[in-house]
Amino acid sequence: MIDRPMPDFADGAWDVFCDFDGTISENDMIAQIMKRFVPEAGLELMDRVNRHELTVQEGVEQMFARIPSSRFGEVRDFAVTSVRLRQGFPAFVRLCRERGWRLTVVSGGFDFFVEPALAPFRDRLDVVCNRIDASGSHLRVVWSTPCDAACEGGCGLCKPAVLRYRQRPGVRQMLVGDGVTDAKAARVADFVFARDRLRGECDRMGIPSLPFETFDDIVARLADVPRDQGVAR
Ligand SMILES: [Zn+2]
Repeated sequence: MIDRPMPDFADGAWDVFCDFDGTISENDMIAQIMKRFVPEAGLELMDRVNRHELTVQEGVEQMFARIPSSRFGEVRDFAVTSVRLRQGFPAFVRLCRERGWRLTVVSGGFDFFVEPALAPFRDRLDVVCNRIDASGSHLRVVWSTPCDAACEGGCGLCKPAVLRYRQRPGVRQMLVGDGVTDAKAARVADFVFARDRLRGECDRMGIPSLPFETFDDIVARLADVPRDQGVAR
């Protein structure tokens, strides 16, 4: 059990790490692609991942391995047109910029849908995600950041490793996320904004977190801080 105090947001520098699928994007694009292109095998793979018979890495690799490379253009077009950005994301990007906080989008997803969705903000944030190799008969996943020695493995893209690689002296790390792949990164982060399943995970692990539904909630919470703390002092 980790037992960290709630931090003072007004004080000091933060690096912000934000998940994409189910967080910036309202839908999980990998799940959408699965339902559309490999509905039956995909559901079975997802069940096996949820039952911990397969790692996330194995599940995602096996799902894409069932899609012929000849259909990659179709997959890409479907994903790009299906992304819906969660309310308030532009204001959140602006707030990070104003505070001088470095914002990194860490996605277990793929550049072919993450990059087009983030193109309007690309000069104000960093992106860590994966790519697809469509040169063979079927799609092959190329993970950008494999698990490091401190992780038990199986992540695909290892979010806790990304946070560890990017630790800087005197700068705290804030995570914004929603799902199981964010839970391992939450253990590394100093503070978490969590929705959906990550909220309960943070409570169970004793990691300080606040819930959010839209990015407006996060902006309101962070923008309020100096005034609140002024009152408290
Ligand atoms: Zn890992």
